[in-house]
Amino acid sequence: MSFETLGLSDALLKAIDKKGYKIPSPIQEKAIPSILERKDVLASAQTGTGKTAGFTLPLLQILSNGQQRRKRPIRALVLTPTRELAAQILDNVKAYSEFIDLRSMVIFGGVNANPQIKALRNGVDILVATPGRLLDLHSQKVLSLASVEILVLDEADRMLDMGFQRDINKILALLPQKRQNLLFSATFSKEIKKLAHGILNNPVWVEAAPENTTAEKVNQKLYRVDKKRKTELIIKLISEGDWQQVLIFTRTKHGANRLSEKLVKNHISAAAIHGNKSQGARTKALGGFKKGTIRVLVATDIAARGLDIPLLPHVVNFELPNVSEDYVHRIGRTGRAGASGEAISLVSQEETSYIRGIEKLLGEKLPTNIVEGFEPSLSTETNSNTPKSGAPRNQKPHRNNRNNRNNRNSKRGSRRK
Ligand code: AMP
Repeated sequence: MSFETLGLSDALLKAIDKKGYKIPSPIQEKAIPSILERKDVLASAQTGTGKTAGFTLPLLQILSNGQQRRKRPIRALVLTPTRELAAQILDNVKAYSEFIDLRSMVIFGGVNANPQIKALRNGVDILVATPGRLLDLHSQKVLSLASVEILVLDEADRMLDMGFQRDINKILALLPQKRQNLLFSATFSKEIKKLAHGILNNPVWVEAAPENTTAEKVNQKLYRVDKKRKTELIIKLISEGDWQQVLIFTRTKHGANRLSEKLVKNHISAAAIHGNKSQGARTKALGGFKKGTIRVLVATDIAARGLDIPLLPHVVNFELPNVSEDYVHRIGRTGRAGASGEAISLVSQEETSYIRGIEKLLGEKLPTNIVEGFEPSLSTETNSNTPKSGAPRNQKPHRNNRNNRNNRNSKRGSRRK
């Protein structure tokens, strides 16, 4: 299938050509025709599938075919959970609308609102926004959502994880009843289904490759190591393997800072990226990482989610996520587009139960390695709170703090004997 057969206009085809895309990705092939038919769409797709173009291209086509108004009221609203994602979506919108007379802009918190207010006053057709700043500027009467024709909720699952449910409800109440709704989510918990049910009318369900196929392309390895020696081990692996572009996941913001500082002390250029960093620091870190001036980006799940960093050769789980699906999201950042990638997980004795959950989700056992000189100490094992076999009643399902995934995971856990 080609982009031409999807029914896109010449102006869009020209922009696609300029981007160098030859054929539509599966999600684009499935989503674009339905969106052009003005149907509501529920799409299961994560970053890396081409989902942004999947909703942006038809959205631009619809708006450019529709009636243009001199004052340019906001006709399309794209809601996203993070600032980085919002900025990336705007980059895409700008690129695809290069040959179309539509104005777009992005608003998010953490930066001075005045330039955003000024730009909004000049009129904008497509607004990409994070929920907090959008509501903030709406309450200041800087913008109106009364003319929105198309609503896109991108990374809806992460928006709920980040506690945006109430903000989303408030925003929905500000939109016209009659509109087209597009909801994108990587996972489909009960809460997401409920949200989708409340927003979408008779949606077409489109799905990119099932999540786990991403994992199959990636060379995955576990390294058993004591918790206190993980930093030392990762420095050794990066240095001796001469890894040049590494994304490392930690569980906490504090942990991300600490690891990044230790790497820098050991002459490995690194930066941390998480919710407590200023927008400027986050943009700088990401820019440096993409350019290659920063070798290691240490990130928390939420900060890393949605970042468009193509073709990462190395992804490291410095600590395992307690939600098994997050493991798949994390390692989905390597081995894209046929390039080989390696996903390394440093596993301490305390994290053994997480591995079981992950292997169950993947349906395979992951190869385990021990690096010479980093053998896990026996004392850790004796002190470990990992349940021993023969005591299944004490065996806790891996706890997770994400409400919408609790049910599935606890079921999984309680089934395990
Ligand atoms: P996304 O999933 O929207 O974050 O897109 C992931 C990456 O794929 C981005 O760098 C896009 O520029 C790129 N991309 C999107 N559509 C295509 C396509 N049809 N062919 C090649 N690359 C694409």
